[in-house]
Amino acid sequence: MLPFYRNLFGNPSSTHWAGRRVHGAVGNAREQVAGLLNADPAEVVFTSCATEANNATIKGVAASLRSRGNHIITTRVEHPSVLSPCLYLENFGYEVTCIDVDAEGMLDLEALEAAITEKTILISAMYANNETGTIFPVHEIGEIAARHRIYYHCDAVQAVGKIPVDWKDLNISLLSLSGHKLYAPQGTGAMIIRKGIKTYPIFHGGPQEKNRRAGTENVAGIVALGKACEIAQRTMCAEKIRLQKLRDQLEIEIMARIPQVRRNGHPIKRLPNTANLSFPFVDPELLLSNLDLMGIAVSSGSACSSGALKSSRVLAAMGLDAETTISHVRFSLGRESSDEDVDYLLAILPDLVRRLRKPTDAVASARESA
Ligand SMILES: *Cc1c(COP(=O)(O)O)cnc(C)c1O
Repeated sequence: MLPFYRNLFGNPSSTHWAGRRVHGAVGNAREQVAGLLNADPAEVVFTSCATEANNATIKGVAASLRSRGNHIITTRVEHPSVLSPCLYLENFGYEVTCIDVDAEGMLDLEALEAAITEKTILISAMYANNETGTIFPVHEIGEIAARHRIYYHCDAVQAVGKIPVDWKDLNISLLSLSGHKLYAPQGTGAMIIRKGIKTYPIFHGGPQEKNRRAGTENVAGIVALGKACEIAQRTMCAEKIRLQKLRDQLEIEIMARIPQVRRNGHPIKRLPNTANLSFPFVDPELLLSNLDLMGIAVSSGSACSSGALKSSRVLAAMGLDAETTISHVRFSLGRESSDEDVDYLLAILPDLVRRLRKPTDAVASARESA
């Protein structure tokens, strides 16, 4: 990135020497992103993040196909950057159907197909869930969409760079990815738009990105995103196996050493790096802050707002009971996670959970009196 902040600080749209010098770098990055996904470089559109890509694809398709229909199908467990644009469109006469998932977070394909009407213009369903890691049947969703001649948008943020995503093998019309989820810097992302698909842009202005995304390119960020994709392509297969082994070991050991731990998400169709575990009768805020003090960064969908625990929307959609939903913690492994890290966590967690766990009958009676 550094050369593009120093002596290669040209605008890639400029025709003079300073612009020409960086123009090629953007093209090279486009090839690297396309290479990771087996897409055509011409189908890659750079954005500022996946939130932008999700907004641009959903609102762009909705606007361009308005005369054909007004119905959008999505799922109950999408990221807010998919759900919010869909709900926003309801203000303008669009109708949104959210499809349910089962207790393992898997999409109900029959319900998906049954929800399609003559007015349906778009299905937006993610590749893999950011809370549970559950991988959706993207092939089948694509087949359903193609059979009904409906565009399929896929938020593939959690999958790209972690598991193979083969654009040519999938019936996905538009795909979103995020740079910082695959070791590129924040403020980078892309959408892949299949050749021949017409959408309106949400940024109007200059002709950048073939009129699909106006605004001067973030050259350094784009170069970095390209490099991150190239590295991911080279290392993904080995890394996937390494992380899955490490994650499985983490889960097995936690469940062996700590009673009453529940694993959330699909047991098999799941990202290699994600472990979502519930520790019933343990306050997740306390668990998280204690782990944080020990240098362990994990997260929970729960947010402490005005002292009240807000449970995970995703786990609630899976129909899990309130205690499981509230007490979940997500452990995400990555390129820098090692055996030693897992050992360190395992040395701390059992005692911590024992200390924080409320006696279950005390909790039950507190609930009754509440
Ligand atoms: C992180 C994430 C996003 C948003 O990506 P940004 O680049 O941070 O905007 C969208 N969808 C999923 C599934 C995510 O995990």
